[in-house]
Amino acid sequence: AKKIPGTAHLHFDESMAASGADYAQLGAELREAIHDDQLFLLYQPIVSLDDGRVIGAEALVRWAHPVRGTLAPDSFIPAAERTGLIVPLSRWVLASAFRQLAEWIERYGDDAPEVLNVNISARDLREPGFATMVTDLLAQHRIAPEKVTLEITETVALELGDSVAHLHQLRESGIRIALDDFGTGHSTLSLLHDCPVDGIKLDRSFTQSAIDGRVPVSAAVIHLAQALGLYAVAEGVETAEQAEQLLALGYIAAQGYHFARPLPPERFAESLRPRDRE
Ligand code: C2E
Ligand code: CA
Ligand code: CA
Ligand code: CA
Repeated sequence: AKKIPGTAHLHFDESMAASGADYAQLGAELREAIHDDQLFLLYQPIVSLDDGRVIGAEALVRWAHPVRGTLAPDSFIPAAERTGLIVPLSRWVLASAFRQLAEWIERYGDDAPEVLNVNISARDLREPGFATMVTDLLAQHRIAPEKVTLEITETVALELGDSVAHLHQLRESGIRIALDDFGTGHSTLSLLHDCPVDGIKLDRSFTQSAIDGRVPVSAAVIHLAQALGLYAVAEGVETAEQAEQLLALGYIAAQGYHFARPLPPERFAESLRPRDRE
């Protein structure tokens, strides 16, 4: 790879042990990225499995790095979590996503996504005032809290400790909480018992069960969700066969390349218009 002076020594992924100096530099770059709007969001439709109707969107962050091109979140979120920059980054993501949803509601009314999902990190939930920050941003954009789901991973939930109070506060305001990548962690069942959540997102390793015979897990998870009164979204649906199978199992909502990739907001909005208006 071509060496770029001043940046070539930077390692954004965790597999390479970055020095304190590297993190300081990454920190400076990321801070600048947040400030200069180098970050942007893509929106992946969450669809109703029986008719393909768009019912929601998951916001997924990207970094238009001035030198490295577009970076996927897996290449900078872990570093952001370690440096604490995840806090301003999440704030940027929440503010941008809420601004977008407010715009869609104004333009499309009932055609706007019913729910907007945003990913947050364990570190966010340890930040004093996080729940208040989220509800303030919602009020500022006049968005009903019921329209927003915060996605947390099982790892996050395991690290919660005292910050579980934040989840309670968020839920009391009407915001929904979903457990992301469900099934991939180690204490899934006890978590559902201990952690205040409204829904689960079945990890794509189970969704893509048609390929490797993991159907029983997908089936067990939907039964579990129904028994506990949780909603379930199947992630990573890539084929019509998978979609049909999930529908037959009782899944109502799904996400995946079969329906749509994460899209820039203008492209996402095209899916909001009823066909006859196109
Ligand atoms: P995730 O929350 O599990 O998001 C789903 C990931 O799967 C996304 O990758 C999405 O583009 C991808 N995906 C969607 N449909 C399919 C499919 O049919 N097949 C396959 N193979 N993949 C599919 P992405 O956008 O690269 O995000 C990766 C992870 O980065 C996310 O996983 C999430 O954990 C994290 N992330 C993304 N945006 C944010 C953010 O704003 N804040 C935080 N804290 N984390 C974020
Ligand atoms: Ca997610
Ligand atoms: Ca996931
Ligand atoms: Ca993930």
